[in-house]
Amino acid sequence: MAAYKHSTVPANGEKITSEEGKLRVPGRPIVPFIEGDGIGSDIWRATQAVVDAAVKRAYGSERAIAWMEVLAGEKAKERAGEWLPRETLDAMSEFKVSIKGPLTTPVGGGIRSLNVAIRQELDLYSCIRPVRWIKGVPSPMKEPDKLDIVIFRENTEDVYTGIEWASGSKEAEQLRLFLLNEFGVKNIREGSGIGIKAISPFGTKRHVVKAIQYALARKRTPLTLVHKGNIMKFTEGAFRDWGYEIAKERFRDQIVTEAELSDGRTKDGRLLVNDRIADSIFQQVLLRPAEYSMVATPNLNGDYLSDACAAQVGGLGMAPGANVGDDVANFEATHGTAPKYANKDVVNPGSLILSAVMMLEHMGWQEAADRVVKGLEGAVGAKQVTYDLERQMEGARKVSTSGFGEAVVAHMGQ
Ligand code: NAP
Repeated sequence: MAAYKHSTVPANGEKITSEEGKLRVPGRPIVPFIEGDGIGSDIWRATQAVVDAAVKRAYGSERAIAWMEVLAGEKAKERAGEWLPRETLDAMSEFKVSIKGPLTTPVGGGIRSLNVAIRQELDLYSCIRPVRWIKGVPSPMKEPDKLDIVIFRENTEDVYTGIEWASGSKEAEQLRLFLLNEFGVKNIREGSGIGIKAISPFGTKRHVVKAIQYALARKRTPLTLVHKGNIMKFTEGAFRDWGYEIAKERFRDQIVTEAELSDGRTKDGRLLVNDRIADSIFQQVLLRPAEYSMVATPNLNGDYLSDACAAQVGGLGMAPGANVGDDVANFEATHGTAPKYANKDVVNPGSLILSAVMMLEHMGWQEAADRVVKGLEGAVGAKQVTYDLERQMEGARKVSTSGFGEAVVAHMGQ
């Protein structure tokens, strides 16, 4: 095991290992956690208590998580003198599965965003955002239960790589002139800011493979490739083409494409792979939500679509997320640090709790994951909720962050 200066490796824990992408999880796995800034410590405390209770109820003394705190954000700056110590990334990589609260993006620091830095450093190339309604959560929709979708957003490419030059910069002008003189590109106006959008076959294919494996393991269908290929043919359009290509190449017996079907439907257990243009999918998930189950999409589309879908089922407060690579995964709350509520024990820990559910499922600890979901649905069903939900629910009782965690545990059953 690597040596850690700012963290203690739990003496009674064991490493999760992986072989050919398959995890081997011991009875007392070491799981690093980043508490997070702002409301992070409040929601982390509640989440940890809920997860420990669920694991205990599901497996008695056979299993327990050996938590290992690793530093990032303000706590890291204070204790280790830097925002994201190398050893934090090393621990997340060495122990394979980790979980984090939200992190403030330091203004004026050398790092653009700690969250983005973690994803890039660990090559967590797919962001997974499951979106489904939890009974009782206030929603703007008449039938929010019809949406049950898992969005796979590519994490490492597209316009998110930060390759851009400001209006008036020497580089932007040089690039504009290069494109004009070498390629005859006449429609970039003088003084434009310029950004580069790059999407590769490598980045697309490994992402789509992950989405297909996830769909097959959970018997979800269809998988919809969402792109804006009618306009951006060689990036978004290519994403679609490479997606179909790898689906046929790697999973020929398990998938069927929409074009191969006469009526657009498959009932023989194979995964249906289809595609939709990005703008139309926003209509589709509103008007025909039940027809969609999984989406694989480039970075920017995925960013917009996952928040829009989350809004349909009651907002970001209850939306979980995971970032996964070949054999390393990190689970995280999808909202930010909400600094005005820090240390007040008032906010909703639902997003981090549901992220922990994804983590337990990823570890194969389904029985514990099911108990957390049951507890969460029970607490919301009993209208014992934090302020954000209470203000929208008639007859609800407002509870604190820790109080919500206790309500979840109370509704878990044995
Ligand atoms: P935010 O922290 O998500 O908060 C915006 C508002 O959302 C809050 O004022 C609150 O609304 C509501 N909210 C967020 N989390 C909630 C929770 N758990 N329970 C109940 N309500 C919740 O967004 P922000 O203010 O734009 O960002 C603050 C910082 O977070 C920034 O430094 C940003 O960079 C960072 N950030 C980090 C991540 C991440 O770590 N993945 C993601 C996004 C942003 P009301 O005031 O209406 O109650």
